[in-house]
Amino acid sequence: MTAIASASKQREFDVAIVGAGIVGSALAYGLGRSGRKVALFERDMTEPDRIVGELLQPGGVRALYKLDLIDCLRDIDAVPVEGYHVFYGPKSVPIPYPQEQSDGRWGKGIEGKSGKVEGRSFHHGRFVQKLRNAAIAQPNVTILESTVRELIEDKQGNNVGVIATAKDTNEELHIRAPLTIVADGCFSKFRRTHGSTIAPTVRSNFVALELEHAPLPSPHHGHVVLGPSGPTLLYQISTEHTRILMDISGEKLPSAGKGDLQRHIQNRVIPYLPEALQPCVSKELNKGQRLRSMPNSFLPPSMQGQNKHRRGIVLVGDAMNMRHPLTGGGMTVGLWDAVHLTNELGGAAWKPEDEYYGQTVKDLHDWNSLKPALREWHWRRKGLASVINILAQALYSLFGADDENLEVLREGCFKYFELGGECVGGPVSLLSGLAPQPFLLFYHFFSVALYSIYALFMHPRKDPKTGKMHTPGFLEYPGLVLRSIAVFYTACVVLLPVVFTEMRSNIPAFAGRAKEMPAATAGKDGKNSAASWLNSIPIIGPHINSTTIRASRQTWFWNPGDRISR
Ligand SMILES: Cc1cc2nc3c(=O)[nH]c(=O)nc-3n(C[C@H](O)[C@H](O)[C@H](O)COP(=O)(O)OP(=O)(O)OC[C@H]3O[C@@H](n4cnc5c(N)ncnc54)[C@H](O)[C@@H]3O)c2cc1C
Repeated sequence: MTAIASASKQREFDVAIVGAGIVGSALAYGLGRSGRKVALFERDMTEPDRIVGELLQPGGVRALYKLDLIDCLRDIDAVPVEGYHVFYGPKSVPIPYPQEQSDGRWGKGIEGKSGKVEGRSFHHGRFVQKLRNAAIAQPNVTILESTVRELIEDKQGNNVGVIATAKDTNEELHIRAPLTIVADGCFSKFRRTHGSTIAPTVRSNFVALELEHAPLPSPHHGHVVLGPSGPTLLYQISTEHTRILMDISGEKLPSAGKGDLQRHIQNRVIPYLPEALQPCVSKELNKGQRLRSMPNSFLPPSMQGQNKHRRGIVLVGDAMNMRHPLTGGGMTVGLWDAVHLTNELGGAAWKPEDEYYGQTVKDLHDWNSLKPALREWHWRRKGLASVINILAQALYSLFGADDENLEVLREGCFKYFELGGECVGGPVSLLSGLAPQPFLLFYHFFSVALYSIYALFMHPRKDPKTGKMHTPGFLEYPGLVLRSIAVFYTACVVLLPVVFTEMRSNIPAFAGRAKEMPAATAGKDGKNSAASWLNSIPIIGPHINSTTIRASRQTWFWNPGDRISR
């Protein structure tokens, strides 16, 4: 890695980016290449050792091509991914990625020998280091290995820079930039400062082990095992190593110290894995390999640049939008955000390739000219991000089934995949980030629901009393009709709230800001009635007040009256 500025002499930049993870690094590279002067802050530049972001879908590979960062997948012992394999009891079904059909608009993917598109899986840290190195190599990007502690706000309420502490010298850096892009990941410290009113929710955690030379039944494929305690994922992260991620439902994990977590894995996860893998996972568990975990958070996106947000700050990546990692879509969404934002906010050296992007170079000091660009970004990301968000949340509800109607849907979903053809091709195009078409998602989701109901009537099932397989007779039909209604209702309850969170993000929240809102949208009380109504719905999550505090420090770089927020 080339030298990292520990304390930059330069104090003024066009853009300050907080966090050199997947999205921050890619965006710094894109904006730097476009001619913007970028300060990229990262608290620790050593190679991260994390259990996240290890499988990049073909849609994400395309974003890397668009950003000219495809070389970051080379020389990291990345493994080609050709699709998925889903295991359910003794049965399994292959879900290959589709043929390459791109007209180029969505970028070029990596094509396997068979002509099918491919993803890549790898050690997260190796990939991040490649992205960081690419950013460092950009003359316009200055990397500051330092932790951003505070954001600076001027008297007019604009964010005008950041205050960070350098890692090696502990020096306090005051960096000024008209635009701060917060890409500090899932535990974002500055989400609230920005004015976001939606907090992440956690339904489960992934617990991880690293396996050596695991005998995967279907190499070069992501393995999804549907067990009674939730889905388990396995995929190679190098030629020698395989990651296993075991979903444990609930916000809190059983205690690893008391051995409860190990017992849960031994009794509720391992017996349901493909037989060839069971000894290998047991061995690692019994060896006492540290069980690492991450919360599986859901955070619906929010349109940036709204009136309630502090001017001069934009959230991106996990700081702005998260979904269950079951479908491995986070990096794909984040890298496409880097593509869109580079096109929207790029400098003079950048000619957006897409004729629909506004061609003018935006003055980053003029928030009013940035707001429409941020709205355009919102709509451009909408198709892909909403498909990946909704699919991840809905599939997790089915695969982590915890009631009997969901179990019917889970079984129906597996049987739907067994039909092959479009019943596999459609869903995998959505999952891989190649088909950003929400209506295709609704079509397949409700097809699964209807097929589950069909299977309820027509397919043989185990009789709970006798334990024998039998096909339902006419006398059972009245009961099955009632059951079908419950199953269909459950399908709606799974899908529609997530769809609703996506739709809500399209409505700029003018509530409480009547004077800034166009008269046509104001309700009788002077507020936007639709927005106030939506905000009052508890499912959306609690409102969080911005935690702006005043500080009494004054430096040459900090104008008296500027506010500092944590
Ligand atoms: C268990 C799990 C598995 C996942 N698996 C996949 C997968 O297989 N495929 C996929 O596409 N996605 C996956 N994801 C999602 C994916 O990891 C994220 O979407 C992606 O990493 C988001 O990138 P980011 O840049 O927003 O955040 P991060 O990659 O987390 O980067 C944030 C960076 O900010 C830095 N930082 C934080 N605070 C500060 C500060 N104050 N000052 C300076 N620096 C700071 C951090 O050190 C870090 O480097 C998974 C997520 C989870 C939880």
